[in-house]
Amino acid sequence: MTEDSRVNNDLAQNMRVINQRIEQACVKAKRNRDEVRLLLATKTVDVTRIEKALALMEKPLMGENKVQELEEKGPQLVEPRPDIHFIGHLQSNKIKHVLRWAECIQSVDRLSLAKKLQNRLEFEHKHIDILVQVNTSYEDSKFGIQPEQAVELVKKISQFDRIHIKGLMTIGLFSDDKDKVRACFQRLVAIQQQVIAQKIPGVAMDELSMGMSGDLEIAIEEGATIIRVGTAIFGKRQYPDSYYWNESKR
Ligand SMILES: *Cc1c(COP(=O)(O)O)cnc(C)c1O
Repeated sequence: MTEDSRVNNDLAQNMRVINQRIEQACVKAKRNRDEVRLLLATKTVDVTRIEKALALMEKPLMGENKVQELEEKGPQLVEPRPDIHFIGHLQSNKIKHVLRWAECIQSVDRLSLAKKLQNRLEFEHKHIDILVQVNTSYEDSKFGIQPEQAVELVKKISQFDRIHIKGLMTIGLFSDDKDKVRACFQRLVAIQQQVIAQKIPGVAMDELSMGMSGDLEIAIEEGATIIRVGTAIFGKRQYPDSYYWNESKR
C-alpha cells in the first residue's frame, strides 16, 4: 500500500469510528444524531490531510487554535470549503486575521477582547458569532472565564451589537475520573440555564461546544452540540497541548 492510500484509509477508518461513537452516545442519551456536530480540531495537521478528512463530512467544520496556522491553511482550503471556527486563545492584536477566516470564535473569555472585537467589526462593517469559553475545570493552565463570572460576562458582551453570542465552550478536565469530567460539562449546562433564565436580548444559548477525543461520549450525554476532535482522527500531535493552551500563562 502506498503511503498516501495508507493515510487515506486511516483517516476514513478513524472517521468511521468517531461517527459510530457519536451515534452510540446519541442513542444512549436519547438524542438525535443531527443535534451533534463534529468539528475537526486541526492544529498541527497539514492541509492535505485536513482536506481528506473534510471530504468525508457532510457539513465540513474545522477549528484552529493558532492564528498563524489559520492564515497558512485558510487560503488553501477551497474544496470542500469548510466552516472554520477559532478555538484557541486569541490575543487582541490578532483579531483582524481571525476575522478573515473564521465564522465563529469559540474562545471569547474576557470583556477586553470583546471590546476590541466590536471595534474591529465596526471598522470592517462585519458581524461575528462567538461562544463564551468557560474554565469549568478551574485549572490554572486553562483559559476561559471562571464559572461564577460567566453570566455577567455574557451580559456585558451582549451589549456589543456586532457580536452574536450563540452559546458556550469548555475544555473538560483531563482525568480518568469520569465523574469529574462530567461535572465540568454539567457546570457549563448550569451556566447555559442561568443565562437562558435571564432572557438577555440578542443572546442565544443553543450551542454547547464540549467534548474531545477522550470524553466526547460524556459530553454528548450532557448535551454537547459541537464536539471538537483531533487526536482520534489525525493521530497524536507532536507538540504538547500546553503549547496551544497556555502560551501566555507559562
Ligand atoms: C486540540 C483541541 C481539541 C481536540 O483535542 P483532542 O484530544 O486531540 O481530540 C479540542 N478543543 C481544543 C480547544 C483543542 O485545542
